[in-house]
This record gives sequence, C-alpha cells and structure tokens, in this order.
Amino acid sequence: MVECEILDKCSFYKKYDNDETMGNTLRGFVNYYCKGSGRNVCVRKKVRKALGGSEFIPVNMKPDGRPVENTSDEEWPALVKTIASMKI
Ligand code: SF4
Repeated sequence: MVECEILDKCSFYKKYDNDETMGNTLRGFVNYYCKGSGRNVCVRKKVRKALGGSEFIPVNMKPDGRPVENTSDEEWPALVKTIASMKI
C-alpha cells in the first residue's frame, strides 16, 4: 500500500481518519485516496498546489472536492471552490 505523501500535513486525513463515528462512505474515501491510488487525483492536492500551501483548504473538503456529508461548503473561499471545480 502506498500512502499519500502528505498524510501528516493533511487536515482532512488527520480529522477523519481517527474519527470513530466516520461512516463507511468516508472510510472508503480515505482508503481509496489517502491510502491508495486515488492519491494521484486528490482535489485537495490540486488546491494545495494552486494556492501554494494547505492552510486555505477547508478541513471538510473531501478528496473529490465536495464537502463531507452533513457539512457545508458555504464558508469555503470562492477561490478554493473555483480551483476545486477546475479540470486541471
Ligand atoms: S485527502 Fe488528499 S491530500 Fe489529504 S491525505 Fe488524502 S490524498 Fe493526501
């Protein structure tokens, strides 16, 4: 298993990987993206690269660029939303 190279810097992973209440859907995201081949197409990494750092990436942004279930993207910066939705 090859893990994402920035696991220890990722607020999403740090918050949700240790969340015992995390459902199977979110566990699937962690397994596919953070601990699997999906790490190469993670939207969080795309945003990080575009902004030059992780500090502006919302914790509740999943690796597919959508908010974690039962959370909202209302407070995400517009630039983050724009980059996340771009096909780059
Ligand atoms: S969410 Fe993305 S950046 Fe964060 S650990 Fe998983 S694959 Fe890496």
